[in-house]
Amino acid sequence: MPSALPQSDTPKVKVSARGASRLKSGHVWVYRSDVVSSEGVGPGALVAVSDRHGKPLGTALYSSSSQIAIRMISREPVADFSALLCQRIAAAIAYREPLVCGTDAYRVVFSEADFLPGLIVDRYNDILSLQILTQAMDSESVRQTVLSELTERLRPSSIIERVDPRVRELESLPPRASGLLHGEKTTTTFTMNAVDFHYDALEGQKTGAFLDQRENYAAAAQYAHGQALDVFCYQGGFALHLAPRCSRVTGVDSSRPALEVADQNAALNHRAIEWIEGNAFDLLKDYASAGSRYDTVVLDPPAFAKSRRDLDSAMRGYKELNLRALKMLRPGGILVTCSCSYHVSQTDFLEMLASAALDAHRTLRLIEVRGQAKDHPILLNVPETAYLKCVIFHVSL
Ligand code: SAH
Repeated sequence: MPSALPQSDTPKVKVSARGASRLKSGHVWVYRSDVVSSEGVGPGALVAVSDRHGKPLGTALYSSSSQIAIRMISREPVADFSALLCQRIAAAIAYREPLVCGTDAYRVVFSEADFLPGLIVDRYNDILSLQILTQAMDSESVRQTVLSELTERLRPSSIIERVDPRVRELESLPPRASGLLHGEKTTTTFTMNAVDFHYDALEGQKTGAFLDQRENYAAAAQYAHGQALDVFCYQGGFALHLAPRCSRVTGVDSSRPALEVADQNAALNHRAIEWIEGNAFDLLKDYASAGSRYDTVVLDPPAFAKSRRDLDSAMRGYKELNLRALKMLRPGGILVTCSCSYHVSQTDFLEMLASAALDAHRTLRLIEVRGQAKDHPILLNVPETAYLKCVIFHVSL
C-alpha cells in the first residue's frame, strides 16, 4: 500500500504548467504527458505533487501504466494513508444517509466523487460489491483496510469483488478472478422504490444493477400510463416501475440472461410483463412499420460513445432510436430517454432530441432533465463524474 511515510520521504512527482493549471482549476487528474519527472516512483505509490518549480500542489496516487498518471487525494501532505482511507469511507457512508431513502441498494463509494479514486463499492441489501480500478487501490494492504472498514461499518453478509479484466490490463495489474472477499453469500434480494429485485453478485453487467437510474425509475413511473415499451430493459428496472401505472408493459433487450432475471423479477413483484429478446434497432423498425402505438416509451441504451472518436456515430444511433420512438408515441404520450455516454454532453443530447422531434413532426414539452442518482455524486470541477442524462418529455402534438 502507499505507505505511511513522513512527507519528506514520500516520492515526488513534478507536473508541467498545463498539469498544474488543470489541478488549480479543481480537476483531480494529471495525464502522463503532463508529468515532467517521476524518477523512482513505483506503481501505485502515494506521491507528493509539485509544479515544475517545486511548489507543492498536494498528494496523489500514482499509476505507472494508465494515461491518467496522477489522481489527487488531498491538497495537503498525507502522513497516514490507511487512516485517510478509513476516514473517506466513513464520510462516503455518512454523505449518503440523508440522500438515500426507500432503498437498500445504492452506491456507497464512487471513486473520485468520494475522494477515493479507483474504488467503487455498491450495496445490494446485505451484499457489498466492490470494484478496484487502479494500482494504488489494488495493493494487499489497501484491500485489507477497505475490507475491514466496510465490514465494521456496514456489517454485510458478504463482500464480492467484480473484476473488469480490461481495467486490470490498462493498469498493468496481473489477472484476477471475480469472487468472494468476505462471507459466503452470493445471492440476495434488494428493494428500491418499493420494487423488489433478485441479485446475483457474480452475474450480470456493471456490479449487477443500474443503481444510477434509481431516482429516474421513480420519476418515469410518475408520468407513465397506457401501453408502455421499455427498450434496453436489462433486468427490468424501468419496466417493473412502470407496471403498476400502465395497462400493458413490454420490455426489449438483446440479452437472454438479463431477460430471464427480468422475468423472475416480474414474478417477485406479481406483475405480468412481456419480455422480448432482440435487437432494439430492428424491433423498433418492425413495430413502427406494423403501426404499433405506445403511450410511454423508455430508451436506455448502453453507452454508444465509449470515446470522443465515436461521437458522430453515437449521435446517429441516439437519433435513430429517438426518432423511431417519437413516431410510435401517441399524442399525450411520455418519452423517457437516456444516455450514459460521458462524451455526449447534455447540450448535445438535447440538440439531438430537438432535431429528432422536428424530423418526426412532433412537438415535445420538456418535463424533466435529470441525471444520475444522488448516491453517484458529481464533482463540479471534474466533468467526467457527470455522465448520465435522463430526459422526460410529453409528446404534446
Ligand atoms: N434500462 C436498464 C439498463 C440498460 S443497460 C436498467 O435500468 O436496468 C443497456 C442494455 O442494453 C443491456 O441490458 C444490454 O443487454 C442491452 N443492449 C445492448 N445492445 C442492444 C441492442 N442492440 N438491442 C437490444 N438491447 C441491447
